[in-house]
Amino acid sequence: MTKKLIIAIDGPSGAGKSTLSKALAKRTGYTNIDTGAMYRAVALLVNRQQVDVADDRALQELCCDLTIEFIRGAEQERVIVNGEDVSQQIRTPEVSLLTAKVAACSTVREAMVRLQRKMGEAGGVVLEGRDIGTVVFPNADVKFFLSATAAERGRRRYDELRAKGLDVELQQTIAEVEERDAADSAREHAPLRRAGDAIDIDSTSMTIEEVLDKMLQLVEQRQSRES
Ligand code: C5P
Repeated sequence: MTKKLIIAIDGPSGAGKSTLSKALAKRTGYTNIDTGAMYRAVALLVNRQQVDVADDRALQELCCDLTIEFIRGAEQERVIVNGEDVSQQIRTPEVSLLTAKVAACSTVREAMVRLQRKMGEAGGVVLEGRDIGTVVFPNADVKFFLSATAAERGRRRYDELRAKGLDVELQQTIAEVEERDAADSAREHAPLRRAGDAIDIDSTSMTIEEVLDKMLQLVEQRQSRES
């Protein structure tokens, strides 16, 4: 029987992680776990319930009642939080900025890492995030670190938001990407860091198909070593 692998995809925002982990999950038949969406879900609730991010107890309560499900739809993956479809609400620029602050809280990180390990421990999963190969699954079978320049990542995010009808500015979007990079890299708990044994892929001038082919090749190599 072929071993069900744990595949980690880490990297900064806008490097193509979401698109590629979904595509890789589809091709391998694995489950995709978007850990950024989980931190975004917490940020959305923090915003709605006006929770102070310095209030550990309130954060703990919020996280321990939380249920998160990913449902693969025909076109899009839906994110269901406490029974409500929040796929759109968690992607606004306002929630994006708050997410970096919420994700810096150790209480939130501990709760999310616990959930992520539970969701992924049986294998057959592609997890995308910032700390999958370093903290969540340091023994993951295949680890990718996906990057691209900040200007290119900002441009991609801008195209994505405009396509959704949001009125954003290119320079502002690039600045927000840089701001989030700085917050994610400088934070005390689980900062964005590449695992020593991760495979680097710079997607700046590569197409999605080219990156996907490369990833699939490496996953197949790993699979054949396991069988
Ligand atoms: O991947 P995405 O851009 O949706 O992630 C949103 C935010 O969630 C990131 O900017 C980061 O602050 C946080 N995050 C994290 N650890 C992860 C995934 C996301 O801190 N594993």
